[in-house]
Amino acid sequence: MNKPALLVVDDDAQVLAAVRRDLRSRYRESYTVVSASSGEQALATIRELKARGDSLAIVISDQRMPDMQGTDVLAQAREVYPLARRVLLTAYSDIDAAIKAINVAHLDHYLSKPWDPPEECLYPVVDDLLDTWQAEYLPETKGLRLVGHQWSPRSHEIKGFLAGNLIPYRWLDVDRGADVQGLLDAAGVGATDLPVLFFEDGTVLRNPGQRDVAERLGRSLSASLTMYDLVIAGAGPSGLAAAVYGASEGLRTLLLDRHAPGGQAGSSARIENYLGFPTGVSGSELTRRAVSQAQRLGAELLVPLEVTGVSIDGGYKHLTLGDGREVVTRTLLAATGMEYREHSAPGVAELSGAGVYYGAATTEASAFVDRRVLVVGGGNSAGQAAMHLSRYAKDVQIIVRRDSLHDTMSQYLIEQIDKTPNIRVTGRTELERVEGDGHVERVVLTHVASSSELDNVDAVFIFIGTKPRSDWLPEGVLRDAKGFVITGRDLAADPRTAKVWKETREPMALETSVPGIFAAGDIRAGAMNRVASAVGEGSMVVRLAHEYLALT
Ligand SMILES: Cc1cc2nc3c(=O)[nH]c(=O)nc-3n(C[C@H](O)[C@H](O)[C@H](O)COP(=O)(O)OP(=O)(O)OC[C@H]3O[C@@H](n4cnc5c(N)ncnc54)[C@H](O)[C@@H]3O)c2cc1C
Repeated sequence: MNKPALLVVDDDAQVLAAVRRDLRSRYRESYTVVSASSGEQALATIRELKARGDSLAIVISDQRMPDMQGTDVLAQAREVYPLARRVLLTAYSDIDAAIKAINVAHLDHYLSKPWDPPEECLYPVVDDLLDTWQAEYLPETKGLRLVGHQWSPRSHEIKGFLAGNLIPYRWLDVDRGADVQGLLDAAGVGATDLPVLFFEDGTVLRNPGQRDVAERLGRSLSASLTMYDLVIAGAGPSGLAAAVYGASEGLRTLLLDRHAPGGQAGSSARIENYLGFPTGVSGSELTRRAVSQAQRLGAELLVPLEVTGVSIDGGYKHLTLGDGREVVTRTLLAATGMEYREHSAPGVAELSGAGVYYGAATTEASAFVDRRVLVVGGGNSAGQAAMHLSRYAKDVQIIVRRDSLHDTMSQYLIEQIDKTPNIRVTGRTELERVEGDGHVERVVLTHVASSSELDNVDAVFIFIGTKPRSDWLPEGVLRDAKGFVITGRDLAADPRTAKVWKETREPMALETSVPGIFAAGDIRAGAMNRVASAVGEGSMVVRLAHEYLALT
């Protein structure tokens, strides 16, 4: 196979030659730099690369060209190579236009001309984009392959685990791929062994659990120490931020997650409002960066490993883990966030993982090319999921109880949805029933005054109400009526506090009613439910943990 390509497009011959020269001088060992002097020529080159089976890592296009705008070239490139990073070259005067084009062409970056010196203005950007591309890219003939039935909940679970843990894999649906049965026969894999994982070295793992996969991939699943300064339960944004600060400030820090790092944010196709990412960032990319930062600084990460219980012994917290082992810590951060509430409509529980999915739009979207899907819910997570699904499905219908999305969704998402022709929003509607033989085939919806049946629905993605994951915490940790953990000053207002809090000091901000156990992010009563606030709180806890450790 040829080296992956970097494509540069500019109608100005001098600029084109300069970018080509700069890119070749640094990247020629691992990439082929190809160029085009017009939009049409660029699209022809992209089609040629595709026909040859070559990979395309980055497209850098000038915005102002006589035959086509750069944003159009980038948007069309995305249809052929969805993973290729897209960069717009702009003159200083076009920066406003570039920023406006971020949503339309899904730009990853814009570069203003001139970019001299390239060591400062060009290479850091391209290095970063190539890193993110490499993390997602899997050559056709290499890597991990997961074979199973699309409608199997076990296949869905393994897909979610691999995607959440940022392990690139290729999904092969037994019922669709012509060569898949041959692959199974050659390995002697029978129908009852599915789903099955094929590794690059030819070995297979039949019907594995998450833990089997993690072990086979060489992930450590047992703690290296018996005692820590800070253990963080939950590797969502708040837990990851605490791990970065804890490790960088010299605390013996352990981070555990029952499923995968990234939490709810990890399942977001595109977070548009997190500071410092002007073109938005996918949840998986933000997670990849945070995990490598935390590990580089010395935090220990164990995934998948669940914290199932905590007992208190003086200043020490003994954590019971899902594998039956125990770790001891002086401070504990509960950062286990929230999960989607189960939808009570008949059929939902039976078909969960077989066309009914909670969240999971990024993991399952590609299975619904040219199909019809329903998104239940009107919050930002539902909006982001609908936008992502619209790239694959032919028809995406959002159903909400209210009249419209205006009270529950951010304006930027409402505008994107309005402009997307294959998304419809149906207000004053609820999911009454899901039906199908082994997988979702049709749904019944209730409108304010009537019911209607929708045939040929292939999947239902549910994004309704969430509940905190706080049931593993000890009884002494006070929670509100919905299960959210009460912290800091809010404890003073709770009459139960006097019975459990026996210290002479007040609880610190973000400290729970058990000294040395902190809570941050969505699990906390009064949380803001944003990535930035979760990160802020997780970072704050490390400072508070130092204060607590100094007291004991
Ligand atoms: C699809 C989607 C899109 C979103 N988009 C945006 C956005 O664009 N901008 C924005 O600001 N916010 C967004 N949010 C909200 C944001 O993601 C959350 O506010 C944020 O993730 C909360 O972080 P957290 O660390 O508190 O918890 P979570 O993200 O919920 O992470 C908790 C982690 O704890 C783990 N866990 C749970 N129980 C245990 C246990 N017992 N033991 C070990 N681990 C456990 C879970 O597996 C999970 O990984 C979005 C949310 C969703 C669902």
